[in-house]
Amino acid sequence: MNKNENVRLEDDLYNYVNGSWIKKAKIPADQPSTGGFINLHNGVEKTMLKEFKNLAKKSSKDELLNRAVTLYSKVMDEKNRLEGQNYLLEKVNYLNNIVDQKSFSDSLYYLYDNNYPLPFSISVSEDMKDATKYSLCISGPNTILPDTSMYNTPNKDLLLNVYKEMVKNILEKLNYPNQSELIEKTISFDDKIRLIVKSSEEWADYIKAYNPYPNSKVYKLLNPSLKQLILARFGKEPANIIVYDPRFLKNFKDLMENNYDLYQAWAKVNLILQNVAYLSEEYRNLAGTFQRTISGAKVMSSKEKFAYRLANSYYDEVIGVYYGKKYFGEEAKKDVVNIVKNLILSYKNRLNNNTWLSKETINKAITKLDKMEIKIGYPDKINDLFYNLSFSVNSSLIEIIDTLDKTRSSFEDKKLFKAVDRSVWVMSGNTVNACYNPSFNDITFPAAILQAPFYSINQSIEENYGGIGAVIGHEISHAFDNNGAQMDEFGNINNWWTKEDYKNFKKKTKLMIDEFDGLPLLDAKVNGKLSVSENIADNGGITSSLESLKRIKPNCDLKQFFINYARIWCMKARPEYIKLLLTVDVHGPSYYRANMQVRNFKEFHEAFSIKDTDKMYLAPEKRVIIW
Ligand SMILES: [Zn+2]
Repeated sequence: MNKNENVRLEDDLYNYVNGSWIKKAKIPADQPSTGGFINLHNGVEKTMLKEFKNLAKKSSKDELLNRAVTLYSKVMDEKNRLEGQNYLLEKVNYLNNIVDQKSFSDSLYYLYDNNYPLPFSISVSEDMKDATKYSLCISGPNTILPDTSMYNTPNKDLLLNVYKEMVKNILEKLNYPNQSELIEKTISFDDKIRLIVKSSEEWADYIKAYNPYPNSKVYKLLNPSLKQLILARFGKEPANIIVYDPRFLKNFKDLMENNYDLYQAWAKVNLILQNVAYLSEEYRNLAGTFQRTISGAKVMSSKEKFAYRLANSYYDEVIGVYYGKKYFGEEAKKDVVNIVKNLILSYKNRLNNNTWLSKETINKAITKLDKMEIKIGYPDKINDLFYNLSFSVNSSLIEIIDTLDKTRSSFEDKKLFKAVDRSVWVMSGNTVNACYNPSFNDITFPAAILQAPFYSINQSIEENYGGIGAVIGHEISHAFDNNGAQMDEFGNINNWWTKEDYKNFKKKTKLMIDEFDGLPLLDAKVNGKLSVSENIADNGGITSSLESLKRIKPNCDLKQFFINYARIWCMKARPEYIKLLLTVDVHGPSYYRANMQVRNFKEFHEAFSIKDTDKMYLAPEKRVIIW
């Protein structure tokens, strides 16, 4: 039993349901957290690790799966890995040529084509105003600390010192010259970057990333040789380039002016950090120091897990289809399709009965709902990318990864000027998660999430609706969260609201921000703006799942619904990790996703006879329901 009988449900649903488990649970030393999603993820991984171990001895008939297993075996064969050291060092030394704007411009295409860290990133993505085509997008580089806001915390120096120490140890081991200079310059360059790139909170407002600039303006602000790069890579120039981060682009010239030596050092250090783990387990341990400090994990993951995860990072869809076919039944798929249909029907009913929207806006919302596509389990057809992802088994691991990265980025780049293929899945079948893709207006529920406590044929209907039902409703609600509301049924930014209705929606969004903003956890606080889209989705998830459940089972036991809802958020995390998530994660903390959210529902208050003296009580006028 996971329940903690010392806690009253009426005061703390989350700890009543999960408390005893949390108290007893030990977070594995190589992980920042455990429980809920993570346990399911570990279970899937354990199953697949066993499969890979066997497949490494006796190959399968599935050619693509064999490639994934070969990659796994290359990692396991440690003595072979160190052979890649010269390849890495030669690649790093090429950067010695980059000393000023001219040498940078002259080498720009070479750097891009060979996966060098650039001071900006180029990507091809669905156009947010016309999701039938792709556009070319530009954004800034990542900072060393996971979010720009962390540079203003007392922890900053401590963390950067861990980073510096880590880089020093790696450079020493590689016997790389000018170590302290490289480190200092890397830190200086990062210190300039962090002032001009977006924070997690700014990224969360993803509609604001859509800023089409005429190509000539981007060349002028970024680098004139970008034009040659684009022509060489894509054959022709797109008229517009989407600038994700206008502030970054505006300040790019200042970032680079007289700073090419800083860029050179920064690029060298980043290139080494991105690759050194492939050389040996000792290097991998060193290269993980900073990340472990940030997340609180104590030791690195085993070689076996690393090997599987690396293979999965390149062949996830292949592995997901294999997992789905073997471990996910047709019966479960049918059952889940039914739950999704029920949820969509409830959503429609609720929209039709909506009291704060005009009929005009309601109809538009229903059109969006009707057009929504559903992906359950795993794809029927494997994306062409995976057929292209091949490598020579005799190369060193580092060269293999380089080849795979090149193939992958050239495959992505070739999409520009082609029509968008909406049958593509953005999550693989072995992923314990679900998602809404705003550009496709589709929802994906991979096979791996369709297990208890989310879903099981052996659970009660109430438990399934409190689990997967609420998750399905959550994903549907992303179509109508603060960002999704600005996109139409085709996945395009398009205003389908009347002025008055949108004003009302903004008011409700503000209530959700305020409800979560500042909720305390450890010595940190929830950021209401960062997590608003997810909180709106959680809220709509519960509403629509509750409504479906009540329709198909009028005498349902709502207690079971809410108890299982709290169970799916069960999580025990290290304090470092909790604080990290509060800073960078658009999802609020599990504790409040359960405890704060259910308080918005009169059904919760009624099911457990919550009184105004109970801590879980929220006065009716303070409750927030959006959808
Ligand atoms: Zn979500």
